[in-house]
Amino acid sequence: MAASNRLATGPAKTASAKGASTAAGSTAGGATAGGATAGGATAGGADARVRRAAGAVTLVGGGPGAGGLMTVSAVAALKRADVVLFDRLAPNENLALLAPVATLIDVGKRAGNHPVSQAEIEALMVEHALAGRRVVRLKGGDPYIFGRGSEEVLACHRNGIAVTVISGVTSAIAVPAAAGIPLTHRGMSHAFTVISGHAPLTENELEGLALLDSTIVVLMGVGTLPTLTQGLLRHGMPAKLPVAIIERGFSASQRTTISTLSTVLVDAAVAGVASPAVLVIGKVVRLAFSGDAEAKDLVTRAAAYTAA
Ligand code: SAH
Repeated sequence: MAASNRLATGPAKTASAKGASTAAGSTAGGATAGGATAGGATAGGADARVRRAAGAVTLVGGGPGAGGLMTVSAVAALKRADVVLFDRLAPNENLALLAPVATLIDVGKRAGNHPVSQAEIEALMVEHALAGRRVVRLKGGDPYIFGRGSEEVLACHRNGIAVTVISGVTSAIAVPAAAGIPLTHRGMSHAFTVISGHAPLTENELEGLALLDSTIVVLMGVGTLPTLTQGLLRHGMPAKLPVAIIERGFSASQRTTISTLSTVLVDAAVAGVASPAVLVIGKVVRLAFSGDAEAKDLVTRAAAYTAA
């Protein structure tokens, strides 16, 4: 199948709605999110009273990138989709097969030199749904973990569009697991906190994490690694606490760098660590396993810390 026939880089031109239709059940007058116009043609003539069923949006968590970690519900939603809006971290390798009748719109790439903004994504989603289409918004991991999924649900609500959310396997849990790191372990850590490294944490947040003394998982954390590690050390977390950085989980180039709170900045720089990556800070890192000889040495070093 020539997938490229159906591939588009968003924002896409939208085909006008077929036939006379308004979005039945739509309470909003028209889509205005991000300046979009409603895609549904106005009903006219004898068909004015005949309303076609409205489209709907399904936010689908696609998991962390491994096909096998997509849920059965996610696969079913893709199968019936008319339009799929997907982004960079959503599993998209087999999308043409998984969504055989859908128009595939890549909203993770840059159209021209401009990134597709969140407002544009929401506008596209609303526009297609109001035109009567079954829209799947395919997102990486879980839609409600730092994925702006809740904003997209609100955009649907504002426009009277039925919306369903299908949870996905979040990278926060699955990517550490792919590197052999459990987030909890009896007697070692009985809690984990997932934080966004998008912006530096406040002193109160850093203090809270240090007091909690359990596993810390950071998404989008490569850029703020210096302020996070310095902050945690300042609030009394041990210099030798193990840290793992797992890059590109579930890809052929998945890589784990294991270090400690006080040495991770240097180790990350030497390794050239880059996004996307999940950071794990805590004793559970010492449970990591790897067949890779070099990594084994690092694991031994990390284990030595907790044995001491
Ligand atoms: N909703 C997503 C997270 C979106 S934020 C989820 O639940 O997984 C994007 C961040 O997720 C990335 O910057 C990175 O920190 C992390 N991430 C997602 N997929 C990843 C992968 N396959 N490998 C490493 N990190 C990943």
